[in-house]
Amino acid sequence: MGKNRITLKEAKKFHGHLGPYLVLGILAGEIALKKLRCRKYFSLKVRVWGATKKPKSCLIDGLQLSTGSTYGKGNIKKLNGRKIKIDFCNLANHKKIILKLKDNFIQRLQRTKTHEDSESLAKQLYNIDPLEPFILTTHC
Ligand SMILES: [Zn+2]
Repeated sequence: MGKNRITLKEAKKFHGHLGPYLVLGILAGEIALKKLRCRKYFSLKVRVWGATKKPKSCLIDGLQLSTGSTYGKGNIKKLNGRKIKIDFCNLANHKKIILKLKDNFIQRLQRTKTHEDSESLAKQLYNIDPLEPFILTTHC
């Protein structure tokens, strides 16, 4: 992973606590920047479905941290949906990827109840292959 990677310390400082959805948002954004060959902040439009309530909505802060797409700039949007789905569009060439969470990951997330559990899962997730929790679809 690149040396400009957002650290868990920075993520916690921004978001207030460390949880698995926050880290999943960081991983998803990292995948998008890499696959779409995008730079942070202005080159990407992000849409997120199914992350309207906590803790799932913590994902959105992870996405903002890793992609630099923010509510202030209007290049990230939250939409209603039953399941988590994230759609990234490279604004320069309109290439897109879609990420969905794998079902076995959702079950693992549902099993974490305590603050300690979610913090330790967050730390584990930060170090896995970013693609592991997701199903990736590419279309141009
Ligand atoms: Zn959170």
